[in-house]
Amino acid sequence: MSEFKRVIHWFRRDLRLTDNTALLAASADSEEVIPLYVVSDWNGEHRWTGPKRQAFLSGCLSSLASNVNHVGGKLIFRRGHALKVIAGLIEESGAEAIYLNLDPDLHGKQIEKKLETLCQELNVAFRPYQDAVMHSADEVLTGSGTPYRVFTPYFRRWDVVAKPLVGGSVKKLVAKIDLPSDPCPTVETWGMKQEGPLALIPGEKAGRERMKSAVSERLGAYLDHRNFPADDASSRLGADLRWGTISVRDLYHRAGKARSETRERSERESFGEFQRQLAWREFFMSILHHYPEVLDLELNPSWRGLEWNDPDEDDRLAKWQEGRTGFPIVDAGMRQLVKTGFMHNRVRMITAMFLTKDLHLDWREGESFFLQHLLDGEIASNNGGWQWSAGTGADAAPYFRIQNPWTQTSRYDPEGVYVKRWVPELAGVDPKALAKAPAPGESIAPNYPPPMVDHSREREETLRRFKTLKEASGA
Ligand SMILES: Cc1cc2nc3c(=O)[nH]c(=O)nc-3n(C[C@H](O)[C@H](O)[C@H](O)COP(=O)(O)OP(=O)(O)OC[C@H]3O[C@@H](n4cnc5c(N)ncnc54)[C@H](O)[C@@H]3O)c2cc1C
Repeated sequence: MSEFKRVIHWFRRDLRLTDNTALLAASADSEEVIPLYVVSDWNGEHRWTGPKRQAFLSGCLSSLASNVNHVGGKLIFRRGHALKVIAGLIEESGAEAIYLNLDPDLHGKQIEKKLETLCQELNVAFRPYQDAVMHSADEVLTGSGTPYRVFTPYFRRWDVVAKPLVGGSVKKLVAKIDLPSDPCPTVETWGMKQEGPLALIPGEKAGRERMKSAVSERLGAYLDHRNFPADDASSRLGADLRWGTISVRDLYHRAGKARSETRERSERESFGEFQRQLAWREFFMSILHHYPEVLDLELNPSWRGLEWNDPDEDDRLAKWQEGRTGFPIVDAGMRQLVKTGFMHNRVRMITAMFLTKDLHLDWREGESFFLQHLLDGEIASNNGGWQWSAGTGADAAPYFRIQNPWTQTSRYDPEGVYVKRWVPELAGVDPKALAKAPAPGESIAPNYPPPMVDHSREREETLRRFKTLKEASGA
């Protein structure tokens, strides 16, 4: 005998039927489940998303709708504010409970609080589940119960906390009531336009295939290759983790199984290193949870009030965004991002340091530009990555350690394969020339701009700005 006759499962960042904690619970606890997706009703530009990401989301939703259909259900789309939509649907359907997976983002958490109150008022059960992470922000704390601000000790603790296991798939969804639904959204629903095909196929099936092939074909060599952007050795699963087309538990345990089954030491270390990267994602989510001010301010209070150049003063921001800086590795990264919605992690660090430490532009400019283009845009990881690169955040490299884009190129793209893939003007150039500043005013190739700044000079300027603030605050 089921606990409920009819409940709602509110899909948010869990767009899958496999190992979906709240959905599995809903279908176990109730005779009928109404699967709901609330389509947000903003229109036009958004500081934290863009057409590629919304097109990917729409594709995931369309695939989810057909998967739900396949197991006998109907995914209901309703456009509007989540609380209003849910209150309306509860009234329309007579649902006795709402099931949902918790959102690690601040906006999502605020809505959860209000929804809980609404459910109390409506006398409906509120059933939240932990799903998007291996461990929530409150599960990984120091011995004295405080949050970690540095990754290595955080990871030491994260690594030993008992890991949640993988659940099954929902095989059947019954809904006897026929409820009206808005159409599945497309990118145009938000007043945006996506040119050309997406670099990743959206949806649970494609996500699972990506996960399986990453584990069986690439991650065994992750340790040696992950830092080399030309090698494409990383998993490319960020967007699937963001939208929940795969479960992080499934991914973690698949990597763990491969790690325990291999006889090769380097493979074992590679799978272990990959599992460690998954902890970075949760580390930044924990930072965002415990220090929500990071969305506006530097995590390290000593660096609040740092001097930034005015982005409207000249065209330096546009040159960075369009990949016309005259620094090949920076331009390659920015063009890869704008074209495909992806940028390799090493290059994310190089381009972010370049914006903040060579162009002296505020990390918040880069943070929002990345989110408008990345398919895997994740507020916590992006904020963490930007603050790390700017030298203001958790685990940040000390401000005086400033990566040199030329040296980074010779170390991580010595043959220029990555640069040439994204900057065709440099196709015929000797790789050594891609990793060395040309003489002042000169450019590396005829159709390519000269470097827009002198790295050594700008490095000194960055040090001056940090030192000035340090002296002013008496630190
Ligand atoms: C400036 C900057 C901005 C970033 N913005 C984002 C973002 O918006 N979304 C995002 O998921 N990652 C972000 N990262 C982290 C990292 O670059 C990406 O997770 C990674 O490049 C995604 O590619 P992948 O899936 O092939 O990674 P893999 O190397 O295969 O890693 C697997 C997964 O682990 C997680 N992960 C790996 N490295 C990190 C990290 N340093 N921080 C947090 N999570 C990590 C991601 O979920 C990733 O998908 C950012 C890093 C920097 C320096």
